[in-house]
Amino acid sequence: MYGAAFLFVALTGSALADPLAIRAARVLDGRGHVLANATVVVDDGKIVRIDPHAKHVDIDLGDRTLMPGGIDTHVHIGWHFDAKDGRSDAGEDDRGEKGEEAALYAAENAYKTLMGGITTVQSLGAPIDKPLRDAIGRGVLPGPRILTALEPISDDKLTPEQMRAAVRKAADDGADVIKVFASQSIRTGGGPTLSQEQLDAICGEAKSRGLRVAVHAHGSESIRRAVNAGCTSIEHGALADQATLDLIAAKGVWLDPQIDLIFRNYFENKEHFLDGKSYTAAGFKAMEEALPKAMKTFQAALKTPKLKIAFGTDALAGSHGRNFQELESRVRKGGQPAMDAIVTATSAAAECLGLGDRIGSIAPGYEADLIAVDGDPLRDIGALEHVSFVMKGGRIAKRP
Ligand SMILES: [Zn+2]
Repeated sequence: MYGAAFLFVALTGSALADPLAIRAARVLDGRGHVLANATVVVDDGKIVRIDPHAKHVDIDLGDRTLMPGGIDTHVHIGWHFDAKDGRSDAGEDDRGEKGEEAALYAAENAYKTLMGGITTVQSLGAPIDKPLRDAIGRGVLPGPRILTALEPISDDKLTPEQMRAAVRKAADDGADVIKVFASQSIRTGGGPTLSQEQLDAICGEAKSRGLRVAVHAHGSESIRRAVNAGCTSIEHGALADQATLDLIAAKGVWLDPQIDLIFRNYFENKEHFLDGKSYTAAGFKAMEEALPKAMKTFQAALKTPKLKIAFGTDALAGSHGRNFQELESRVRKGGQPAMDAIVTATSAAAECLGLGDRIGSIAPGYEADLIAVDGDPLRDIGALEHVSFVMKGGRIAKRP
């Protein structure tokens, strides 16, 4: 049974002034180490220490595995199937949905994501992310910590000077990152849509504002331009050839590949996506053909020396809260060792977001973003589907 301190936290959901000692059969630190029978001590929202010989335990998680909360570097936190006709809705288009409906769906997505063990997301992005980010930040809504690009830059007709202005506007509006589309969708071939000059302008302006740039790019040419412009991460990169993977690695840029969940969710919910515009029958066929290519690229990326791989699921309508399914597929289908996969979704993802000194590790001084899963994910990665304990910033959001 759990102690009085645990009950108090569980009932109030607030951070305790007194230290809280949480024990589990295994503690993964998010950096590749595992400690048996260890206790993590949390105080005032932060991790104080890992104690291998704790005498006092407030919360005993038994045979569970305690680890840093998951970090997803690519989601669309507001996207949902709407009430009108069950179709995918980004909340900002011409489908006529009311703002309050969109906001509540976004809050629901945030809740599902947190309950699924993800304590930080980067949303790439939509204007609705901002009030959601700020409400969660105020502590009034349960959800993951949100970083957002707000409105992505997608107009390929903008001149380099207009691109710079678009970056400045996003920065002034409160964006945490710049998201730009530099290639076509995988559904239309993934060819480049922006010139080197346009990408140089975006990345240069973002750098001067201290912002990272996440670039949607599928084909090798678009990826090379983005990397040479100095972007932070390549999102998707499904069609990258080996020379391009080598270039990404050499320039220290992050690759954020997807091999399963985004595709599977589209196929499972095909009728909810088909709209004759972004999603057509031909587009779905193209995605089916792209899936083995994306897997091949991911496996080549794993073998590319020094290539930094992040963990972004592209979670959208239908896949919020299922984020860890992508990680499971990286292990089960992609062949990545379980510990490596977990590191990509914790300390590595934190580093990709520029938060490597604050989140993603169980270490003194880090935010107390902790989850526990039933069993041992190093033996069976499917354990990540059984998240039974979630703490964010020292506040318990879910308990066994
Ligand atoms: Zn996306």
